[in-house]
Amino acid sequence: MKALQKITHARLPLWSLPASWPKQNGAIALANIVFLGNKIDHITPSTLFENSPELKTATLALEPPFSVSAEHVLDVHGALVLPGLLDAHTHIDKTLTLGRIKEVKPGLLNAIQAMMVDRASWSEEDIRARASKALQWAHAAGVTHLRTHCDWWEPSTTPLAWHVIKDLALEWQSSIKVSRSALIPLTLFKEEESANALAKAVSQSNAPKHRASLGGFIHTSNWDPQALKHLFEAAERFELDLDLHVDEELNPQAQGLQSIAQLVTQMQFKGRVVCGHTCALAQKPEAEGLCILDQVALSGLTLVTLPVTNLLLQDATPERTPKLRGMTLVKEARARGIPVLMGSDNVQDPFCSMGSYDPLEAMIIGTPMGQLGQAFDVWSESICQTAWIESTLDAPQPQALEQGAKANLIVFKQANTIGFPSQTHPRAIVRDAVLL
Ligand SMILES: [Zn+2]
Repeated sequence: MKALQKITHARLPLWSLPASWPKQNGAIALANIVFLGNKIDHITPSTLFENSPELKTATLALEPPFSVSAEHVLDVHGALVLPGLLDAHTHIDKTLTLGRIKEVKPGLLNAIQAMMVDRASWSEEDIRARASKALQWAHAAGVTHLRTHCDWWEPSTTPLAWHVIKDLALEWQSSIKVSRSALIPLTLFKEEESANALAKAVSQSNAPKHRASLGGFIHTSNWDPQALKHLFEAAERFELDLDLHVDEELNPQAQGLQSIAQLVTQMQFKGRVVCGHTCALAQKPEAEGLCILDQVALSGLTLVTLPVTNLLLQDATPERTPKLRGMTLVKEARARGIPVLMGSDNVQDPFCSMGSYDPLEAMIIGTPMGQLGQAFDVWSESICQTAWIESTLDAPQPQALEQGAKANLIVFKQANTIGFPSQTHPRAIVRDAVLL
């Protein structure tokens, strides 16, 4: 562990740099990042550009000599650098259960069924052991912010996992900011009274630095516009942000996303509203889908796409090769200025056999799935931009790589902008201005 005052010659992603940042024949100036305590003080262009001949020897080496000088300077010789990673949508209560579940039939609703059976035997020790492993993996990957949804299927009992994960969040707070969202079926918001009781329970479990959000599972199988209205009204009453599972299906009739955009606008809802999945949007007639996205842009929603799980769960029929992808309209959303995040979602549970709590693993699948160009310079923002999930009108947060943001950075020793997100191991991880 070595304390740092500065990182020099870092190749930062274009999304993080101002329009005035120097370029020379298309090559981008490398950055010097100066720390003050455990925060970023300022970032300035260095005199070297990404293709400067001076860098050649270092970038050709298999292991660049990342040694820290006596002045606490780490020269990364043009290596790609990102801020600490955000995993915007996970389920660490369910994780690592697949090994003990005998049979899971394909598709989302079958996975929910299998999970309900397993959940009946959860104990505090079991949840703690599995969720702790998830956080250890996330930490090793360079994650600094992780949002987890916790299953909440009873109207009047706060689930055990909700408490266990709150304890874990407090234990991990110096290295990973863990935030919780209650994953509640829309049917439990049918009555106004129970909607308020649920929002109250979520609100009461909030700690000053651990704001939990209210969530819901919204799907054509449980669609109820009145219940959705109750959910929003209850969130407003108890000043909760929302993080919802929306239209995780390929049914073009799904109405969750457009209804949410309309409600946010009508109510002038002040909290942050995050919508995960929204797979059905890509199945609607193109003009209709784009019109919905225009409403989404106006209402200030954040979208989260979950490539690995939705490739596995959507269009899942035994003995037939899937034809559809399950990714929402990410390019069209980004073109409208809608924040788009990418997360791990389920890891080694009935919903998804794969995963490791490394957002770059989600990206390595999401990049070809969405045919996303400029993965480093444009799309890496989707695994870094914590403000898109945390900032609200009342409590703005610094953007990643801004002055005042935590000095949490990842140096990719082997990766390059052409092949990214391939070759993102090994990583040098800097936390609180200390090279681990
Ligand atoms: Zn999910």
